[in-house]
Amino acid sequence: MKHIKELLEKAIGGEFLDINEGRDIYLNTPDALLFHSAHLLRNRLHPSREVGWIIDRNVNITNICFSFCSFCNFCRKPGDEDAYITSIDEYRTKIRELYTLGGKQLLLQGGMHPKLGLDFYTKLFAQLKQEFPDLRLHALGPPEIVHLSVMEKISFTEVLIALRESGMDSLPGAGAEILVESIRNEISPAKCSAEDWLEVMRAAHLLNFPTSATMMYGHVESLSDRIEHLIRIREVQDQKPEGHFGFLNFIPWPFMDEGTILKDRDGVKASADNRSYLRLIAISRLMLPNIEHIQASWLTVGKETGQICLHSGANDFGSIMIEENVVSAAGAKTSMDTEGIQQAIREAGFEPYQRNQIFERIS
Ligand code: SF4
Repeated sequence: MKHIKELLEKAIGGEFLDINEGRDIYLNTPDALLFHSAHLLRNRLHPSREVGWIIDRNVNITNICFSFCSFCNFCRKPGDEDAYITSIDEYRTKIRELYTLGGKQLLLQGGMHPKLGLDFYTKLFAQLKQEFPDLRLHALGPPEIVHLSVMEKISFTEVLIALRESGMDSLPGAGAEILVESIRNEISPAKCSAEDWLEVMRAAHLLNFPTSATMMYGHVESLSDRIEHLIRIREVQDQKPEGHFGFLNFIPWPFMDEGTILKDRDGVKASADNRSYLRLIAISRLMLPNIEHIQASWLTVGKETGQICLHSGANDFGSIMIEENVVSAAGAKTSMDTEGIQQAIREAGFEPYQRNQIFERIS
């Protein structure tokens, strides 16, 4: 236990733990001490009792995707009855609804359509920005950037510059899952490699795009894979130029198995429970002292577990998320309105503040 306490003190002090040290504290620290230690580091990084939240809206550009990741039940083939590409009129309606609720950020996600090239995205973003100049576009993710780079035969940086010039404001850390090649080969072999995912983020950080990092866990990965994932993200963050945004937040969420190939064909059931989520939040806070915000994904784990996350290392409650088709398609059915999310933060003993995507205070 003396060894564990020393490691926890090291982490609370902001030092980097290596993979063996991360494993050691995860395996050998009782819940209360692990959560408390993560909370101490949270308090050191954010001395106030404030917790951020945001209004944004997820719109899926298309559900057509060539990747067919085995954990996804959202993607469709071209020609499927329920395959779609969102029309400009649908964007207009959804953006007006978002504005009515007081939000300004659109999270644009979707499948990797085999035929939609860079021109499609730059035209779409430019049109949305022309019609809604104050809209913030938090769009795509490293797998799409890699896909467009291959399609157009240009570098990741050139893709990112073209997207930024057309109106994209920030790059979500989507499609990270577990950043270990053997795991990606198993669950998403058609998607970009872990190294490419990280390389896109390095390029985005050099260009000073605000970005986020994510993890989807609780499927075929081991504890070592999860810790390695955290360390690889931490290393990229450590390489960002001084003063650049880098990864603003880290958001883990559990694999949801409903209707997925991973469960139906491979027999892999979702293994994460609420306790494992809390421990993951805590170990993430302790392993990632150079990422400012840890976000509790109450959308997937529910309000109560989300609230305990705020005492286990998390300092952000994320979005009311008006639409989230990929997660809800696989079994997450949680929802909360603007009053509800603030109430939930207060009930947990914190003070809510509404933020934008770069963590500026709105109210
Ligand atoms: S997770 Fe994303 S990339 Fe993978 S199949 Fe689904 S939509 Fe395509």
